[in-house]
Amino acid sequence: MTTPSEVPSASVAHPRLLRRRAMVWAFWYTLPLALVAVVLVCRNDLPLSARLMLLLAGALGSGLVGRFLGRRLLASVGTAFDLLASLREGDYGLRGHVQWRRDPLQALIADINALSDELRDGRRKRTEASRFLGKTLVALNSAVFVVDDTGVLRLINPAARRLLHAERTAVVGRAADQLGLGPALAARDDSILDHHFPSGRGRWVVRRAVWYSAGREHVLVMLHDMSAALSEEERRAWQRLIRVLSYELNNSLTPIGSLAGSLAVLLDKESPETARQTVKDGLDAIERRAAGLARFLAGYGRLARLPPLQRTRFRLDESLARLVRLESRLVVEMVGQRSAVVDGDEDQLGQAFVNLLRNAVESALARDSEGRVWLDWRIEIEHVVVTIEDEGVGLPASDCLFVPFFTTKPDGAGIGLSLSRLIVEAHGGSVELRSRDAGPGALAVVRLPFGIPT
Ligand code: ADP
Repeated sequence: MTTPSEVPSASVAHPRLLRRRAMVWAFWYTLPLALVAVVLVCRNDLPLSARLMLLLAGALGSGLVGRFLGRRLLASVGTAFDLLASLREGDYGLRGHVQWRRDPLQALIADINALSDELRDGRRKRTEASRFLGKTLVALNSAVFVVDDTGVLRLINPAARRLLHAERTAVVGRAADQLGLGPALAARDDSILDHHFPSGRGRWVVRRAVWYSAGREHVLVMLHDMSAALSEEERRAWQRLIRVLSYELNNSLTPIGSLAGSLAVLLDKESPETARQTVKDGLDAIERRAAGLARFLAGYGRLARLPPLQRTRFRLDESLARLVRLESRLVVEMVGQRSAVVDGDEDQLGQAFVNLLRNAVESALARDSEGRVWLDWRIEIEHVVVTIEDEGVGLPASDCLFVPFFTTKPDGAGIGLSLSRLIVEAHGGSVELRSRDAGPGALAVVRLPFGIPT
């Protein structure tokens, strides 16, 4: 036996080599007796005692050759047995010493050495992979549960332990149902699970996978906590709202405060008759500001209280034509000709398109030379795509257009775009607003699925 560094490269114990080697061994084994037989045939004048002596010598020679060959054979087979026994016990470090490379039994040992190398490499790779998997499972914020085909919990990671509020040893080996994991195991892949675990209530995205280990089916369920993502999104929404609220309140209250102060100074200095007109103008301005603030608050109420969808199947093209006829300030051209049927809330979608049309018309009217506005639609796979294009002043350089209460108009409420997006997204569609490529102005693109996703 040798250490792994002395391992010779593997050779293949070819059956033909083995047959040839067996014939060589048989030749050497029978050679002494064959020589005696030849002498006895050629020299038949030898006395009986001499013949017996010769026969004895031949048998002794064959016996010695057989002993030598047998020992070599036993040594090789013994080494092979030892190597196989150590492999069976999981010891892949032992190697057989290969002396005569052309001996098929030695080649067998070289092959067992090569097998040991492969098994040792395989075990190293498996150990590395399971160590990596273990570390990944520990670092993962998502909870991972592995349950076997009898419904017994076989593995959990620290996040799952925290979710169950229990030590690993207290839960692994127990029925998953008893641990309250039934709904998580029954949930479909990629679905949202709303569940109460011992650590608390929450919403999780469920990912599941099935695999076989030791011939048995195992299910891996991964629960990804949605509350972290939601609260981040919520925080951003609050930040936006507070930014807009403080902007709007400052815009109204600061001038109201300073106007009231100036009017008070004026009334102190001058007689009420002289100051009458200025006071009236000031009060008008205060009233306008207050009305603006009231409009802003009304808009906020509309955004917050969007009623549930009343679904019907209706002709979107006819609905759009009616909306276009309502616009009296400018003629909106209807380019689309095909009929388009969608499932949705006609009133709410009408409101969304009115907002987009109104913006396009106001932008076109705001240009010195009057720009055009046109409306088109086309059918794509599973979608109706409506486009509203204007040759207006173009979009302001801001990425807050869809942020509630963002407006660049003196009397704007800043809820048209956000309301439109809310409505269209509730229908499973999308709204996009971008600058026109072909010239000045903007292009609104609304994608609506034929049916509302349930
Ligand atoms: P409002 O019209 O009350 O200002 P919106 O939410 O409808 O509120 O629009 C927000 C802002 O987006 C508008 O003030 C305007 O600056 C910009 N906008 C929207 N549509 C267009 C358009 N077609 N062309 C140019 N600017 C637009």
